[in-house]
Amino acid sequence: MGLITTRPRGTEDVLPQDTAAWQFLVDAARRHCSRFGYYEIRTPTFEHTELYHRGVGETTDIVEKEMYTFKDRGGRDITLRPEGTASVVRAFLEHSLGQAGLPVRVFYVEPMFRYERPQGGRLREHTQFGVECIGAAGPLADAEVIELGYEFLTGLGLRNIEVQLNSIGCPVCRPGYRAALVDYLRGHVDELCEDCQARLDRNPLRVLDCKREGCRAVTAKAPRATDYLCDDCRSHFDEVQQLLASLGIPFTLNPRLVRGLDYYTRTVFEMVHGGLGAQNAVCSGGRYDGLAAELGGPPTPGIGFGLGLERLLLTLRNERIPLPEPPAPDVMVAVAAEGPGAPELQQKAMVLARDLRRAGVAADVDVMGRSLKAQLRYANKQGIRYVAVLGEEEAASGEVSLRDMTAGTQRRLSVAALVDMFKGRRGPLAGKRGG
Ligand SMILES: [Zn+2]
Ligand SMILES: [Zn+2]
Repeated sequence: MGLITTRPRGTEDVLPQDTAAWQFLVDAARRHCSRFGYYEIRTPTFEHTELYHRGVGETTDIVEKEMYTFKDRGGRDITLRPEGTASVVRAFLEHSLGQAGLPVRVFYVEPMFRYERPQGGRLREHTQFGVECIGAAGPLADAEVIELGYEFLTGLGLRNIEVQLNSIGCPVCRPGYRAALVDYLRGHVDELCEDCQARLDRNPLRVLDCKREGCRAVTAKAPRATDYLCDDCRSHFDEVQQLLASLGIPFTLNPRLVRGLDYYTRTVFEMVHGGLGAQNAVCSGGRYDGLAAELGGPPTPGIGFGLGLERLLLTLRNERIPLPEPPAPDVMVAVAAEGPGAPELQQKAMVLARDLRRAGVAADVDVMGRSLKAQLRYANKQGIRYVAVLGEEEAASGEVSLRDMTAGTQRRLSVAALVDMFKGRRGPLAGKRGG
C-alpha cells in the first residue's frame, strides 16, 4: 500500500491560513440573519433517500445522477444531503415548528454533497448558507428573502450584484404554459441536445436553462412563463417587483430562470455577480409552495435561497475584498538559557504563558527546547511581534525583557505590566503582524 496523502476528488481542505476568512464569512452570515430575525437550524448530514426523491424531484440532475446514496448496515436507503430545503421543510413538519407562529424563519450553514464533475470550481462537498421563510404566501416574504440575500452580498463589499427574477406560475396556470412550451420545442426538436430531447417529455421547463448554444438559440424565442400567468400569479409577481424597487434592489427579468418541478411556484431568482469575465450566479432561490404537501404535510407555502460559501469566498478574493488573516499570538515567551539552568526556566516560561492566557492574552511558548536565536527566528516567521525573553536575571526579579520585533527595541518590565499591556487587545480582526 502506498501513502494516503491525497484527498478525494472534488473535496477541499480549509487550511489554517484560510480558516480566519472562512470563519469571518460564517460569522457575517449569522450576524446578518439575526438582524432579520432568522434563527439557525441544523439538520442531519444524511436523510432517508426518499426525502430527496420527493423533495428535490426524480427528474432533476441532483436526484438522477448526483446523489451520494448508500445502504447503511441496517439496509436503509440513506443519502448525504445534496441541498438544504428538503431537510428544513421535513424538520418543520416533523417538529410542528409552525405551532409557535408563522412564518418560521430559519437559516443554515451546512455541507452539501453532490457527485459532480469537479470543474469550474464545483465541489463534491461544498458548504451552503441558506435561508427559508416558511408559512408566508404573499410577495412580502419574497421581497424579504431577496433583500436578505442582496444585503448580505453587498454588505460584504461586492458590487455589481444583480438580482435576476422570473415567475414560473402555479398549478393553475403552469399547465397552459407547459403545453405552449412543449408545442414550441417540438417544432425545433432536431436543434436540441440529446439531454433536452429527453427532457421534452419529462421536464420541459429544464430545457430553458440548458447551457448549450444550440438549445439557447432555440429557447431565446420560446414562449415565456410570465406571458401565461394567471391573475393571482401576475399580481404576486408585480408586487414582488414593486417591493424590490422600493427597497432599492436592482433586478432584471430573466425568462430562462426555472425550476422544473410542480411544487416550485411563482418567484424564482438568482443573484449574479458581474465581475471580470463571465457572470457568475452566487445565490439562487425561489418559492416552493407545494413542497410541504409533497412530503405529506399540510399545504404550507415557503421561499428561500441557497448560497455556496466556497464560491462566494472565491468571488471575494477575485474582487480583492480584504478578508481577515489568522491572528498571530500577541506575544511569545522565549527562554534565554542553555545548559543546566534551562529546564527550570522552561518551567517558568510555561507558567508565565499560562498566566498570560488566563488573562486573555494569546501567548506562544517554545516547546522545542530551542536556542534563543532559533526561538526569535520562529517568532519572526509566525509574525509574532513581541517576544518576552525570560533569562536567569529576569526570572530572579519577576521581570521579562520584551522585544519588539518590528521596531527592533527591547525593554525590561514586570510580568504584571506585561499582562496589562496585552489585555483586551484581541479583536475579531486582529491581523497577522498587527501591532
Ligand atoms: Zn398561477
Ligand atoms: Zn440542451
